[in-house]
Amino acid sequence: MAQHTETVIAARDAAFAALAGGFRLVDLSDALGPETILWPGAPALEVLEAVTHDAHGYHARVFTTFEHAGTHFDAPEHFVPGGADTASIPIDDLVVPAVIIDITKKAATVPNAVVEPGDVETFEAQHGPIPSGTAVLMRSGWALRKTDPLSYAGSEGTTGLAFPGFGVEAARLLVERGVVGLGVDTLGIDPGNKPDFPVHRDVSHPAGLWHLENLINLEQLPETGSVIAVGVPRIVGGTGFPTRVFAFVPRQ
Ligand SMILES: [Zn+2]
Repeated sequence: MAQHTETVIAARDAAFAALAGGFRLVDLSDALGPETILWPGAPALEVLEAVTHDAHGYHARVFTTFEHAGTHFDAPEHFVPGGADTASIPIDDLVVPAVIIDITKKAATVPNAVVEPGDVETFEAQHGPIPSGTAVLMRSGWALRKTDPLSYAGSEGTTGLAFPGFGVEAARLLVERGVVGLGVDTLGIDPGNKPDFPVHRDVSHPAGLWHLENLINLEQLPETGSVIAVGVPRIVGGTGFPTRVFAFVPRQ
């Protein structure tokens, strides 16, 4: 979890100042339903019509979901026993400046492409150091593949997962910068060919960072200047949850 130092507050103030001239809203969350591409083996969504208009005069359902389905949040508890759960993440860590690191070009030819230290350095050479308290979102262009589950989850044969993510070295660098969270437009923060989840297990969650996975519409965000609001429900003991993510993007 980021220290709420002067630096973090200054970064947030600067991001909100950029919105003062007007902003547009971008929805970074996909709808969750029967069409959602789930992590292979994850339990399917289930819907029970518990109360119906015809029988009761109003409508309510019981909805069962894996906590990590569709556009969703990962809390540190996902990989760290005793880590922060979705109920205990402070709101200060959920409304934060966001930067985009774009790896679309290499992801087009390398399905398991990762954000590498060089990508972070290229970004910083152009935009300055990534401020403490920021969320770093990887844009790979993968969200546009959702019409084809095989292309979204695994394009290297029918059994192997293949999609872009963060590499361990870049994730360590971002932890050093004091970032508060990582996000991706793919099924996972770790790329498809890392089934042992080295970033989740060894780097980001142990450092208290949260994740967002299966984001959409990142192509509508500039590389810097946006603020995101992460509306994860506060579920006691929650390891993650489907989440609405709002991006406030300065008008150009
Ligand atoms: Zn997850």
